[in-house]
Amino acid sequence: MPDKDKPLLEVKELKKYYPLTAGITSRHIGDIKAVDGVSFSVGEGESLGLVGESGCGKSTLGKTILRLEEPTGGKIIYKGTDITTLDKKALRQLRKEIQIIFQDPEASLDPRMTIGQSICEPLVIHNIGDDREREEMLVWLLEKVGLEPNQASLYPHELSGGQKQRVGIARALALNPKLIVADEPVSALDVSIQAQILNLMLDIQNQMGLSYLFIAHDLSVIKYVARRIAVMYLGKIVELAEREALFGNPLHPYTEALLSSVPTLIPGARKRVLLIGEVPSPLNPPPGCRFHPRCPHVMPACRQEEPALIEVSQGHSVACHLHRS
Ligand code: ADP
Ligand code: MG
Repeated sequence: MPDKDKPLLEVKELKKYYPLTAGITSRHIGDIKAVDGVSFSVGEGESLGLVGESGCGKSTLGKTILRLEEPTGGKIIYKGTDITTLDKKALRQLRKEIQIIFQDPEASLDPRMTIGQSICEPLVIHNIGDDREREEMLVWLLEKVGLEPNQASLYPHELSGGQKQRVGIARALALNPKLIVADEPVSALDVSIQAQILNLMLDIQNQMGLSYLFIAHDLSVIKYVARRIAVMYLGKIVELAEREALFGNPLHPYTEALLSSVPTLIPGARKRVLLIGEVPSPLNPPPGCRFHPRCPHVMPACRQEEPALIEVSQGHSVACHLHRS
């Protein structure tokens, strides 16, 4: 049985800045602080949801964990080993265990490769099995994601969006990973297909004891798949809690605003809190609390002092001056 309390992945004060340069001398004029000091852990067999508006740094965080982007600071610890500065060879090993599923199944598949070739490519790259074993593996993977063996010879353009994402999932599963970073895996799909793919991912998780870092901007998707949820705003986690606590007792005004934008069937069930203004730029984040220019409860301290993420009750952390003990 997977041990949900034993962290598989720990991220500590992780930062990813993109330098901004200008002029012919490429003068450094600032940094886009896409991820700016993020800490959390994912247990074995757990799915942690990561939610926030577009541009808040979710994809950058996911890619940095996989070392597809080099971290600017902080630590990534996988199974107790610091993987922040692994060399290429060790990274190759790691890539077997941590996989990513992208938002756009179209863009993540090579149009010149058959479905079968795409799914088997990770096995070929890692030199796993002979032709016959790969063939067997392919049939198993296709079945796992609800595709027919004869669909292996099709090309991506011959499949629907949902089928393509099933291929993306099969490809991610080929190396028998422990952790999958799923970056908005259903955002590009029709609503009618979304639940099918989410159910498939949950079934596979149960069968294989996988952990997910499940990224979405859509709270209803996150609510469906994640037991524990981190809310991200402008490069930072502002609230982290179990699903029931987050939805039943949101503490951060940003979380409250996000929740109130989810339609409910009960009229007047939740007072609508509208998010005013645009998301500020991660190039020049506001001083103090990054949410203060849009916050309905802003106080003088919020403009000056950045609130730390503090655990205010068992398993429920928030970064907000309203909730300082
Ligand atoms: P999300 O996935 O939450 O929509 P992203 O992680 O894609 O957000 O982006 C976070 C911020 O980092 C955005 O302001 C984006 O423009 C910036 N960004 C992302 N990738 C790069 C890059 N390669 N170079 C410069 N800026 C980037
Ligand atoms: Mg993204």
